[in-house]
Amino acid sequence: MEVLNHFDGGVPRPFQISGDTITFNLSKCGTLHVLVRGAPAEFGVKVTVEERPGMPLVNQGLLYSHDGRRYKATPAVESESSTYFSYRVPGGDGMVWISTRIPYGRDNLDRLLADCTCLPNLSVRTLEGRGRIVPVFEFGEEGEGKRVHWFVAGEDAWEAAGSWVADAMIRALASNRSLAEKLLANSVLRIVPMTSPYSATQPGSSHTTIDGEEIYGAATWSDDEPPTEFALVREEVLKDVKTGRLGLLLNIHSWNGSYVTTTMEFIRTAGDRELTGRRLGWAKRTLETLMIDVPLGTTKVSEKIWHPGLARDYMLARHDVAAFRIEVTTAGQSYDEFAETGLRLLANCSGIGDWSGVLPEEGDA
Ligand SMILES: [Zn+2]
Repeated sequence: MEVLNHFDGGVPRPFQISGDTITFNLSKCGTLHVLVRGAPAEFGVKVTVEERPGMPLVNQGLLYSHDGRRYKATPAVESESSTYFSYRVPGGDGMVWISTRIPYGRDNLDRLLADCTCLPNLSVRTLEGRGRIVPVFEFGEEGEGKRVHWFVAGEDAWEAAGSWVADAMIRALASNRSLAEKLLANSVLRIVPMTSPYSATQPGSSHTTIDGEEIYGAATWSDDEPPTEFALVREEVLKDVKTGRLGLLLNIHSWNGSYVTTTMEFIRTAGDRELTGRRLGWAKRTLETLMIDVPLGTTKVSEKIWHPGLARDYMLARHDVAAFRIEVTTAGQSYDEFAETGLRLLANCSGIGDWSGVLPEEGDA
């Protein structure tokens, strides 16, 4: 049995092979994505983690695949402590992929592009800078009075479930004509499935900069010079703020299996700004409407951001924009639930006619 690299984030952690069991030490970063060659019909995987990253492995299980495309979860057969888990994985003749998340990387973007090209409503734009590109899938024709809705996933490359949700949204818009027509009658959609596509190939970071630094990229929205990908997306979003056309800005994240709900949130205060009165009421209504029938969905209004510099903190503090974020759970959820989440978000968005709370209006405090 051999452990090999895999393209999307597949640098093997420190590991040991003993008999039919591979033991990985994930205490440094908590994520794993490798390829096993020459595995017996069934083999063991043991994982040691730190306390907190252990939760996804409890709630979600370990993921494996025999084709590198479809992953299944297998629950721990043994967990002697909250930092040690043991699994049995079906092997076989070919390769076996093992992961702590259903990966999403550049190959998935390629597949999406190949599957969705030539659609009448869709144009794909690549934002480019410093040798990096970020694809944006744009739906709908520009027109007077149309709102622009942004769905931004994959800021943290290892939170792949968010990218699967965005991927499913694009496929839903491509295949569900009545939904697309309803949404695009009075809005334009810009969907970013993967804000950090290059970081998906890195061993253990939410975002890896051009200089090779592993950073929390999602929290760089308020930096003077964010990493290239974030700067590119931010610039585009701000264009729609300037014209007063911004509708929904939803950053799509995944806390993997750390929590067993999918939760959408907005913050009430940021910097010197706060949502009160009319806008606060609007934000609460919109939050509830967006989450109708989202699998395992809950909502949360926070007084302030938990980590400065995230998109909704920056947007409210600097531009007086009410923005939202969703954390998709992977606990008991897989492709179908991610797709349902994307579809519900679009359908719920299409039912909202009032976007007047995104930006302040005359008379707002
Ligand atoms: Zn995140």
